[in-house]
Amino acid sequence: MYTKHNIIEMLNSQSSDMERLFARGVEVRNSAIGDGVYLRGLIEYSNICSKDCLYCGIRSSNREVERYVLTETQVLDAAKFAYESNYGSVVLQCGEVKSERHITLIEHLVKEMKKLSNGTLGITLSMGEQTLECYQRWFDAGAHRYLLRIESSNRDLYNKIHPNNPQHSYDERIMAIENLRSVGFQVGSGVMIGLPYQSVEDLADDLLWMKRMDIDMCGMGPYLISEGAPFGLESAHLLKSEQWRFETSLKMIAILRILMPKINIAASTALQAINPMGRIKAIECGANIIMPNISPENIRANYNLYNNKPRSFDSKIIEDRVHYGEWGDSSHFNSKKR
Ligand code: SAH
Ligand code: SF4
Repeated sequence: MYTKHNIIEMLNSQSSDMERLFARGVEVRNSAIGDGVYLRGLIEYSNICSKDCLYCGIRSSNREVERYVLTETQVLDAAKFAYESNYGSVVLQCGEVKSERHITLIEHLVKEMKKLSNGTLGITLSMGEQTLECYQRWFDAGAHRYLLRIESSNRDLYNKIHPNNPQHSYDERIMAIENLRSVGFQVGSGVMIGLPYQSVEDLADDLLWMKRMDIDMCGMGPYLISEGAPFGLESAHLLKSEQWRFETSLKMIAILRILMPKINIAASTALQAINPMGRIKAIECGANIIMPNISPENIRANYNLYNNKPRSFDSKIIEDRVHYGEWGDSSHFNSKKR
């Protein structure tokens, strides 16, 4: 059993203690689920969003963004690419849109992606908070994993980084995560690391929150300033250094691996934005999932959640550990089912 005190100590570790923590993350992963790495091709379906999260570059009130929605052909071509490249899985991600038209379109796209891969492509969705009925429809269509970060498990901080209106409610967020689970999804969550006003205690609480929520997958990474977001600009003077956010993100990954040995942990794209070796480093701390971006080139500049978003990923370094053509489901989820 790790206490909050132990976790804070690990989060504050430096030099050789920090390296030992990273090595322990790897050790725990390797003995729980092996050293394999699984791929999910990331398709950024649309940057249209009805929400206005204060940290995000594609928030609805940012007028500087050129909005887009991929066509069916563009999505299916990307899925075909993932299938033919033997990635095993895709993640379809977009802003939060609740219209019936959108829900039906996604349902259709999920079915078509299944069809073109003879049912073999694993499908993860990341499309924000939706109703239980909507989640059920997408699940029935063939999606089986869903990512919905809590962003920060500290209610006050959550309220600070989201507009003060019912559309951005901490309780609704938790409810959505619980609904996903009740529908049968493998549920992924996570947080941003190094937010202004966020303390090391908050990060320890985030890890304990993920453990308590018994999540199956985690995606978390450094908070990065976005020019299109007021929070970033107003609180820039409180921002911790890139180095701090990078190292703390890696420590968070290693500690979460120790707390939850069998879950899937993604090496986040945001890590790569700080350091070109970011995702590989994350794998070397206990992560086991990489999400190469397979969105069409011409829209990528418009899906800027934050500045300097990396455009590609070179998996050669860990090539021999990649399990091609497999879903790489969360062993944590699978062992709960038995
Ligand atoms: N709209 C969906 C999915 C797209 S946003 C959703 O919100 O769940 C996906 C993730 O991008 C968010 O969960 C958030 O953690 C991350 N993100 C947004 N802005 C960011 C920033 N400035 N720095 C780091 N991560 C950010
Ligand atoms: Fe929309 Fe997601 Fe960005 Fe919030 S984080 S503004 S829901 S895309």
